[in-house]
Amino acid sequence: MTAATHSPLFPRVPDSADAVLEGLDPEQREVATALHGPVCVLAGAGTGKTRAITHRIAYGVRAGILQPSSVLAVTFTNRAAGEMRGRLRQLGAQGVQARTFHSAALRQLQYFWPKAIGGSMPRLVDRKIQLVADAAAACGTRLDRNELRDVTGEIEWSKVTQTVPADYTLAAKRAGREAPRDPVEIAHLYAAYEALKRDRNVIDFEDVLLLTVAVLQDRHDIAEQVRSQYQHFVVDEYQDVSPLQQRLLDLWLGERNNLCVVGDASQTIYSFTGATPDHLLDFRTRHPGATVVKLVRDYRSTPQVVHLANGLLAQARGRAADHRLELLSQRAPGPEPVYTEYTDEPAEAEGAARRIRELIDAGVPAAEIAVLFRTNSQSETYEQALADVGVPYQLRGAERFFDRPEVRKAGVALRGAARFGGNDSLLDDAVTLPSQVRAVLSGEGWTTEPPAGSGAVRERWESLAALVGLAHDFAAARPAATLGDFVAELDERANAQHAPTVQGVTLASLHSAKGLEWDVVFLVGVAEGMMPITYAKTDEQVEEERRLLYVGVTRARERLHVSWALARSPGGRANRRPSRFLDGLRPGSTATVGRAAAGASGGVERGFVSEAPAAVPRRGQRTPARCRVCGRTLTDAGEMKLMRCEECPSDMDEGLYERLRDWRAERARRSGQPDFCVFTDKTLMAIAEAVPDDVGELARIPGVRARKLTLYGADVLALCAGREAGGDDERD
Ligand code: ATP
Ligand code: MG
Repeated sequence: MTAATHSPLFPRVPDSADAVLEGLDPEQREVATALHGPVCVLAGAGTGKTRAITHRIAYGVRAGILQPSSVLAVTFTNRAAGEMRGRLRQLGAQGVQARTFHSAALRQLQYFWPKAIGGSMPRLVDRKIQLVADAAAACGTRLDRNELRDVTGEIEWSKVTQTVPADYTLAAKRAGREAPRDPVEIAHLYAAYEALKRDRNVIDFEDVLLLTVAVLQDRHDIAEQVRSQYQHFVVDEYQDVSPLQQRLLDLWLGERNNLCVVGDASQTIYSFTGATPDHLLDFRTRHPGATVVKLVRDYRSTPQVVHLANGLLAQARGRAADHRLELLSQRAPGPEPVYTEYTDEPAEAEGAARRIRELIDAGVPAAEIAVLFRTNSQSETYEQALADVGVPYQLRGAERFFDRPEVRKAGVALRGAARFGGNDSLLDDAVTLPSQVRAVLSGEGWTTEPPAGSGAVRERWESLAALVGLAHDFAAARPAATLGDFVAELDERANAQHAPTVQGVTLASLHSAKGLEWDVVFLVGVAEGMMPITYAKTDEQVEEERRLLYVGVTRARERLHVSWALARSPGGRANRRPSRFLDGLRPGSTATVGRAAAGASGGVERGFVSEAPAAVPRRGQRTPARCRVCGRTLTDAGEMKLMRCEECPSDMDEGLYERLRDWRAERARRSGQPDFCVFTDKTLMAIAEAVPDDVGELARIPGVRARKLTLYGADVLALCAGREAGGDDERD
């Protein structure tokens, strides 16, 4: 690593093609130098597959063997494509297209539409599920939310497997699909959905690939034009290729065989959309002369993390599992994974947030921490819990950074400043590039301290803060740089879509974390019902869930926290048990499936922590959270904070609420922290509704934890009693 002398954001670009090969092990080097003919890399997580193919492209480009514009690198998520572009840029291989299958196809389709079909391309729908709902309504079929999701899944599966409505029933039977409704009815809905799209002149996500395939199949002139542009193809995460994507790849290739694929069958996590690792595992059969390379050294994770990953795979079944590769960690030992059992989900989120706060306080950068969950709906609880402890987070993929409105506006402002004398002020020694950038971005809403709250305002601030951070790194790497140079750097990054690291903990679904890595990973909600998810019924579906957990575990470089909650909501029935996938792997468990939840008695074993409720009454000890107004059991985190349903009438003392807000602003200002670190709006509302008389009542309000009671209890109770707040010295 060159990090000691160079910022990680501005590492030294290798000065020659051979220098690109340095830092690769012998097998990776074999991949990087096999520039012609079919190449297949079969390797486990963290073994440097992505590194090997990015170095391969860079080596070919730098050695003058590959024309940058003739290479098309494809992967599956926007984040992964962004990551690949960033790595290529750092290796001095600008100009190479690194895209998702979808975005590569979309570009070609847009370009060739007028010539191939005529007129302009129909609009792309972003909410397919709504269109399916409309199609169902048109057919007079009532679908509940789950059915709607499942029927949409079936339509997607049909399209990526190129199954038309008339063939659905037979194809679904052959593939052993568990249709959520009568297959004849689904076929009917699928046909109605397609008709509705035509009527509304819109196309969906899968149509982009289907239409591109159709154009390339039917129009040899267009296929030839595409083939003359792209000569070399590289596919990352090839285990997740769908039949439709494979068809597109075949059409791009034509008769040629300049194809390099890398993948790990044990990370197949998109089978539900029709993806299959068969293309990866059968690569040599399809391409008999292929160079096949296996990588086993894991450079990413500590032996402790790798041990768990290997343990998970050892219990896996199925074709992917038959090809598993035992990983060998190359890193120094680190801490054991920590397993924590919580009474309920909000307590789990609070526990994770508390640990994250401690890590950040101990110097771990927020951007090096991720919280990964099974479903996006789990995100909200973690957003709230992190906001409660004053930890910034990011939800959005880094790849779209330069498309964000605030970043585009900031770019315009910086460009204007550079044009109108921004560079002159550098004549004054006191004015540095970072201070100039800070001054310009102040006009765009940047402040030294983050704003209160965790919503859109905070996200905008994080974007601007990332630009300020980038200016610092840029100035450190190039001390003589002017504002004009910085603007040029931003333009170049925007073109390469190489986003700066937004300082915040990443909250992401396991699916979207594929290919990425962090120093510390929190795998949350690892309980039966979530992992595997309830609707994973068949053995194949359960195996896919196990692989998803393997993907999650292998995202961690050093520290891994695995947790689950016994009940969904505070006081709810503690009928959950930790995921069966952890049986025999977490301390205190055996490999037998079907045991009752272990560790609930609170036994502390090596690496196992059972979080018992603290001395101050915590939510886990209480009766179920119920709405104060209508009595309904509350499950939503925000509603639990309010202690009532959002819709139920509020009996809040508005005057008290305003006084609490003023007091909070003052406390936050004095301690130099954002308002929401003192209390969130929801907690203040709950206080203004409950008007607690004593410490016990105040402690019962969600969001008022032991530390906050000590710090603010006296003030808040004084305000509730109509007195002035005393305002003890801030000690946090
Ligand atoms: P995944 O299966 O999760 O996509 P991968 O096989 O693509 O993983 P990479 O992301 O390429 O793995 O590499 C994992 C980490 O190991 C990265 O931080 C990478 O820089 C590092 N790494 C890979 N190969 C080497 C090497 N030869 N020397 C040092 N570090 C390496
Ligand atoms: Mg990778």
